[in-house]
Amino acid sequence: MPNRIHTLPSLLINQIAAGEVVERPAAVIKELIENSLDAGADQIDVTVQQGGIRLMRVRDNGHGLYQDDLALALARHATSKVASLDDLERINSMGFRGEALPSIASVSHLTLTSREQTAAHAWQITSDATEPKPAAHPVGTTIEARDLFYNIPARRRFLKTERTEFGHIEQMLRRFAVARPEVSFMLQHNGRTVFSAEAATNDATCNQRLTALLGEQFVTQSLPLDQTAAGLCLHGRLARATFSRSQADMQYFFVNQRLVRDKVVNHAIRQAFQDVLYQGRHPAYVLFLTLDPAWVDVNVHPTKQEVRFREGRLVHDFIFRTLHQALADERPQPETPAGPTATEIPTVAPPPAAWQVNEPRTAAYQATLDWQQPSTSATTAPSRPPEPPSLGVNRADPEPAATPATMPPLGFALAQLHGIYILAQNAQGLILVDMHAAHERITYERLKQARATADIPSQSLLVPVTVAVSAREADLAGQHQTTFGTLGLVVDQISQHSLVVRALPAILRDADAEKLLRDLLADLIVQGHTDRLQTDMNQVLSTLACHSSVRANRQLTVAEMNALLRDIETTERAGQCNHGRPTWTQVSMQALDKLFLRGR
Ligand code: ADP
Ligand code: MG
Repeated sequence: MPNRIHTLPSLLINQIAAGEVVERPAAVIKELIENSLDAGADQIDVTVQQGGIRLMRVRDNGHGLYQDDLALALARHATSKVASLDDLERINSMGFRGEALPSIASVSHLTLTSREQTAAHAWQITSDATEPKPAAHPVGTTIEARDLFYNIPARRRFLKTERTEFGHIEQMLRRFAVARPEVSFMLQHNGRTVFSAEAATNDATCNQRLTALLGEQFVTQSLPLDQTAAGLCLHGRLARATFSRSQADMQYFFVNQRLVRDKVVNHAIRQAFQDVLYQGRHPAYVLFLTLDPAWVDVNVHPTKQEVRFREGRLVHDFIFRTLHQALADERPQPETPAGPTATEIPTVAPPPAAWQVNEPRTAAYQATLDWQQPSTSATTAPSRPPEPPSLGVNRADPEPAATPATMPPLGFALAQLHGIYILAQNAQGLILVDMHAAHERITYERLKQARATADIPSQSLLVPVTVAVSAREADLAGQHQTTFGTLGLVVDQISQHSLVVRALPAILRDADAEKLLRDLLADLIVQGHTDRLQTDMNQVLSTLACHSSVRANRQLTVAEMNALLRDIETTERAGQCNHGRPTWTQVSMQALDKLFLRGR
């Protein structure tokens, strides 16, 4: 016998909603701060007791609420932020669901005190009263939630220790402080001020604030970004690959000022760092993506930390290209006082003609650089690049009387140290180069370029590999057959549920054909496109580059060393080797003077 259906009482409805929105104290703080930001506040003070479980209070100097709206603010589905479907499709505010305050009020003792600018005094309402009472409060709002989950013991038991819960709150505040440099934030716990961030008004104060929040290293070792294209704007700071983290703990990506976690975004960033980051390391960044609110759906999840882009592919490629370019542009510049750890950010400018080098190279070095895919028949094995190339020896010796104006950024070689490092002198002082790491990057970039200009040859498999797939996968393979072909992968459909791999890119001829195809299709399903072939080939090229680069303990002539220095200057991503290690560094005269306690 079925149970009878009945409508739930409103308190219970709110408590159910609270299950989604108010997971723990930090989630309450998040909702309250978002409301303060939506009210235009530029000063937000947060006070908590006992990890927020005993008390959470958020006070702001925003525009406040009208007396008549106090009770409504605590009612479910009541909001001042959207009025129509049209508004919902272009959300400009942090909130819009009208769920946070009633949810919080249903699981705690809530007090809302607010004064609107034209009101003679403030008004106050509590979750259990219906009529507001007069109160004292400046223009703005204070919301207090006491005894979280006092009426839901099961939820309360799930809370962690006071310390853990406070840790989450503090992290939440830091995120807002990074997201909104123009707003002052203050956090007090058990009567002690734990955190305070003054509003920043210009680049310098913004950087000071970032330094306080994320550390000086992040600020000095990151590149500023500001790129606009096709209605998308990406700005912020991207740490160089040499400043990577063992944890993904310094990754802030904001979409229209909202911190989000998004697959499309993450994929684009990972791809941009693909061959400059050491395995298992995580990039660090603070990036703000701004776009027309109509292009992004934030109404995907109750806590609004997920978004859906209307043009995911466009957004992906824009982020990827911007970051990829920023990392590629990192090259030594004449005025740069230091290498990859410089505090100044080099900008890209063509090198002065005085030291632009275009001389012929020795045959062996040239052969490495010219190495391309074999262009002969598909079944021929590709010729290997020559073994360790020797660097050009027929290059003219440096102009000994180079003036600072004609001095190349990395200067001229002085000597080789223990067969590993090149010592060079430039305008600022001493340059140290890890010759293997540097040469590896140069070779790798050349190999990639060579591949990009020629079609990728494929190699037929003696025994074609049949792969059982779903109808969806078969479909996708059909749609991408031509693309696969240009990358050297020949795939045919032989029945509704099976594909056959007939040829592989020659450079990946030893790869597991079935695994490669499955991985490619999985990428296509998840991302709508795939770069796995590209990634795998880069992996192979990177390995080749490593093996064909100058090994340690090889003696180089001064001319060879200078040739290598000039190549570093003109190669993309030359600041790091393929594994993310730095390739060169600068020791300035000042640093040397300091070392020898030498005043000048
Ligand atoms: P939402 O933010 O989704 O609209 P909330 O339940 O968080 O829903 O808040 C309900 C309404 O209360 C808001 O739409 C806003 O009008 C008002 N409100 C809440 N907090 C504040 C505040 N700090 N300052 C001014 N108005 C506020
Ligand atoms: Mg809200």
